Amino acid sequence: MIERTLFSEDHQRFRDSFRRFLEKEVVPHHDAWEDRGYVDREVWLSAGANGFLCTSMPEEFGGAAADKLYSVIVFEEVARLGVNGLGFGLHSEIVAPYILRYGSDEQKQRYLPRMAAGEVIGAIAMSEPAAGSDLQGVKTQAIDAGDHFLLNGSKTFITNGWHADVVIVVAKTDPSAGAKGTSLLLVERGMPGFEKGKRLKKVGLKAQDTSELFFDNVKVPKANLLGQLNKGFIYLMQELPWERLQIAISAMEAAQAAIDWTVAYTKERKVFGTTVASYQNTRFKLAEMQTEVQVGRVFVDRCLELLLAGKLDTATASMAKYWCSDLQCKVIDECVQLHGGYGYMWEYPVARAWADARVQRIYGGTNEIMKEVITRSMGLGGK
Ligand SMILES: Cc1cc2nc3c(=O)[nH]c(=O)nc-3n(C[C@H](O)[C@H](O)[C@H](O)COP(=O)(O)OP(=O)(O)OC[C@H]3O[C@@H](n4cnc5c(N)ncnc54)[C@H](O)[C@@H]3O)c2cc1C
Repeated sequence: MIERTLFSEDHQRFRDSFRRFLEKEVVPHHDAWEDRGYVDREVWLSAGANGFLCTSMPEEFGGAAADKLYSVIVFEEVARLGVNGLGFGLHSEIVAPYILRYGSDEQKQRYLPRMAAGEVIGAIAMSEPAAGSDLQGVKTQAIDAGDHFLLNGSKTFITNGWHADVVIVVAKTDPSAGAKGTSLLLVERGMPGFEKGKRLKKVGLKAQDTSELFFDNVKVPKANLLGQLNKGFIYLMQELPWERLQIAISAMEAAQAAIDWTVAYTKERKVFGTTVASYQNTRFKLAEMQTEVQVGRVFVDRCLELLLAGKLDTATASMAKYWCSDLQCKVIDECVQLHGGYGYMWEYPVARAWADARVQRIYGGTNEIMKEVITRSMGLGGK
């Protein structure tokens, strides 16, 4: 395998300690959390107390001012252990950065330290029942009512939605202006008229509290506007390279974990008096998978270098998101096959990984949308 050169000894120590944390405080409970559909709030507090949330935030806001590679480690270790109910990545590396980048001083002070401590859980609500890929079609409206906005509408499929204490809500503040009339609002748990819907029952990510959210004449103070009025769409576009790369990072680690489990399993499992691994079909399949994951890993690591240098563009990140999540699904499906019937049993990690993988091709912008973005960078205009 090609040695990864991105990580220092400090990163490695952080990886070891985060892995120990997951093994001790998450793995023993994750089954039960999957059964009931959400993780304990205490695990958020414990992760915060141990410095595993919002690591890249400045120290004055409770973070460690750490480089993005520490966040990469959080994504990778969660994916490797398959404890995908934890919404730490979205909280620390999507929601918090919006507040840091576009928030007022007062907003940063109000949310970021408590987000780093795990006391406040963050979510971002773009998707609606009738608007996912086409975010310009968002119907949720925030109408100017003097000292506040009057927010009406609903959102669906929101990661961390049920636990969330603060939600960045994408809403039309000038419905006649399309994308140019879209703003981001910070909506807090307990605001009258803000209701959480049911936790959605999903094919995978069963311990993740993905929810619907409803807004019925919610009075959102003007002070809760994030950034400038009607600039929301521009803000959403600016964060895309890192958000998309996060999915590719998890994809490669989850695929590698599945290969590792399958190597171990097929060396043990006996069929026709020999091991499954002794068949050339098994060994060749595993060789092909390992090759492809190695190729993907090198590409993702190069994208990470570009990200750290501030040079990762949206089209390249879209390539990583689409290609790596497709590969993750293909690899894990082959790994299930090599486990035979046991690969279909929930108690086997490969079965959960298979169920959890599928959504990687859908959220964060579907893989079809990724290809649209790539074609545009090639000068190929679509419809
Ligand atoms: C588990 C989970 C967690 C999620 N978390 C969040 C979250 O935290 N916050 C949030 O806001 N959203 C979240 N989402 C929503 C997710 O981002 C959307 O589901 C996704 O963007 C697709 O939107 P859609 O479901 O409306 O599908 P649609 O947009 O209706 O797409 C249906 C199909 O049409 C295809 N399609 C659409 N447009 C085009 C096009 N131009 N060219 C070719 N094909 C096209 C799509 O690729 C797809 O195959 C989550 C979803 C899931 C399942």
